[in-house]
Amino acid sequence: MKVPFVDLKSQYQSIKDEVDSEIMNVVGDCAFVGGPYVQRFEEAFAEYCGAKYAVGVSSGTSALHLALMAMGVGSGDKVITAANTFIATAEAVTHAGASVDLVDCDAASFNMDPALIEKAITDKTRAIIPVHLYGQAADMDAVLEVARKHNLLVLEDAAQAQGAKYKDRRTGSMGDAAAFSFYPAKNLGAYGDAGIVVTNSREIADHVRMLANHGRRTGTDHAVEGYNARLDGIQGAVLGVKLPKLDGWNEKRRQAAGRYDELLKGLDIATPEAMPYAMHIYHLYVIRVKNRDKVKEAMGEKGVGCGMHYPIPIHLLDAYKYLEKPAGSYPVTEEIANELLSLPMFPEITGEQQKYVADCLGQVLG
Ligand SMILES: *Cc1c(COP(=O)(O)O)cnc(C)c1O
Repeated sequence: MKVPFVDLKSQYQSIKDEVDSEIMNVVGDCAFVGGPYVQRFEEAFAEYCGAKYAVGVSSGTSALHLALMAMGVGSGDKVITAANTFIATAEAVTHAGASVDLVDCDAASFNMDPALIEKAITDKTRAIIPVHLYGQAADMDAVLEVARKHNLLVLEDAAQAQGAKYKDRRTGSMGDAAAFSFYPAKNLGAYGDAGIVVTNSREIADHVRMLANHGRRTGTDHAVEGYNARLDGIQGAVLGVKLPKLDGWNEKRRQAAGRYDELLKGLDIATPEAMPYAMHIYHLYVIRVKNRDKVKEAMGEKGVGCGMHYPIPIHLLDAYKYLEKPAGSYPVTEEIANELLSLPMFPEITGEQQKYVADCLGQVLG
């Protein structure tokens, strides 16, 4: 048996007729950039998140970058985010002209430890980017309380958390703004790069829309130098077809996570912990295991695709040498970075496939 890390083909097969015809509608209408398919999806996604506005952009990275700019974060400002995240979170801060201050995570949730956020605040700090890592919401009440106390902006990095909840609120509805990615392998994935900014602020939404479209006010009138970071019509159409199915797919991921929890009992590993405040939507099912690199390779030899998210924390990447944060700076992040292993996870994964994954892991761990 072979179990891929993700299987985008089986999902496509299950929605092929609907997606194909909607793509052909876009082509027939020549609604290639922006346009009605994008607008309908933006409205539907804002409503889904429980927020007022959503502005489609070209990627999750652009969503983070342009949201920061629209919030007024820029040169001289510091932005606090997680040491254990995808590089895009930190890149966006730099792209906006600000600089990153990293914070260690909590060993149970893998999300930023709110107590450490407060310690990292300086008089230059303007914003916090909590990352809802792996599909589990960060402890937003605690983050928002620190932010309120110190008058800081909050931008949710919800790239891995489409449809996840914190208490009864959807991710994307709690910060001043939120950035989502629709990279194909995300829980809600486009058929190419795509992203969106969600916010309750009319001002931020309008500003993002302008920045993503060359700083354009109308027609040939450009208020500022902006970017070409618009959402494609085809992506808007694909996302529009897929959004009504997202809750069902997330529920299947949650069921698959529950099956893994059972199947992996008794092995010398740690399964992911779901926090009481979170409805985890398992973008990734991440275990902790000793000798991770060897285990990953051995699983690969048995036909099981595993991933690592993220084996090198931000501050230890060559790209961030300039932060001058040597090994030891964020101990929890560094410890788990050596042990994290992401098991195959996608809505269509079968119980049989999961049993094979668990059996292989059992054999590999001896
Ligand atoms: C995927 C991801 C991004 C970037 O999104 P892209 O659409 O790939 O640009 C940002 N942050 C996190 C946490 C991600 O997982």
